[in-house]
Amino acid sequence: MTSPASGANSAAALPDYAPIPRSALGPALNQQGYHVGRVERNLYWVTDGVYQAAFLTTPDGVVLFDAPPTIGGNLQRAVDEIATANGVTNQVTHLVYSHHHDDHTAAASLFDRDVVRIGHEETRRLLLRDNNPARPAPEVTFQDRYTLEVGGERVELAWHGPNHSPDNIYIHFPGHDTLMMIDVVNAGWVPIYNLNLSEDVPGYIAAPATALDYPWTHFICGHLGRLATREDVAVHQAYIADIQASAKEALTTVNPTPYYMHYGENFWAGVKAHLDTVTERAAAPVIAKYTGVLAAADIEIFTRTTTFQIMQSLRLDSGPSGPVHP
Ligand SMILES: [Zn+2]
Repeated sequence: MTSPASGANSAAALPDYAPIPRSALGPALNQQGYHVGRVERNLYWVTDGVYQAAFLTTPDGVVLFDAPPTIGGNLQRAVDEIATANGVTNQVTHLVYSHHHDDHTAAASLFDRDVVRIGHEETRRLLLRDNNPARPAPEVTFQDRYTLEVGGERVELAWHGPNHSPDNIYIHFPGHDTLMMIDVVNAGWVPIYNLNLSEDVPGYIAAPATALDYPWTHFICGHLGRLATREDVAVHQAYIADIQASAKEALTTVNPTPYYMHYGENFWAGVKAHLDTVTERAAAPVIAKYTGVLAAADIEIFTRTTTFQIMQSLRLDSGPSGPVHP
């Protein structure tokens, strides 16, 4: 049983962190807890400060891109606000899924059953697997590319391979100078644990370059309170490249032998001591370099777990994992 005293102690023991750079924060939220802003022309973005979605108003209906449950009912409120101001329909007729993850899709069922849902074929497979009525599987699916045309507007959806998730897509708005791609770059912030909880490390590392191959000025990245820029993507790439270089260096300079000698037949204890040392050695200079540059860089566990994943990918994907026994 937890006593009030021990609760107070555990709160008092919480660490302090460096202040969040003002540039990493976005506009103030309204009374209902959201901000809706124009990206360009009839393309809008919505945030609750942590999650982001987007929508396009057209004469034939509103196209919604993602439905994060934290924004939830505020998605329709944001659409209503813009539709009323501009005298256009507030009827959401299409919903595009960026990927299958619940934290970006679980408000999908708030929209009419006759909404057209669009997503990658893998998104459909994964949503059918996950079998959650809050996240109905898309009926319209595609393999590599899909051009969505609604009310005279065009949106290009593309899948360029697995990255954060197996099904994460690029959503390009050629008429709005905008790219939407979720959960790879966090505008002004470091990725959270394990490269933003990503499944394919080489795919995740390569994705920002693919994003930059598209022409755009505005980037809807899915997280935190503001839109991203090309410069944000470049800073993210530099952070990841520094981790790669640092991990490679630590892998070659840390001598594993003493750790395995120390633990003898407990091989896993040797593995842990060795890899923890490599991770710590690799992450420390990156944490120091990006504190004050990327928000939350000093939450060390984020950079450490990302470093660990990249270090494992260097061993297991790129190789070599070690010398070949003669
Ligand atoms: Zn995700």
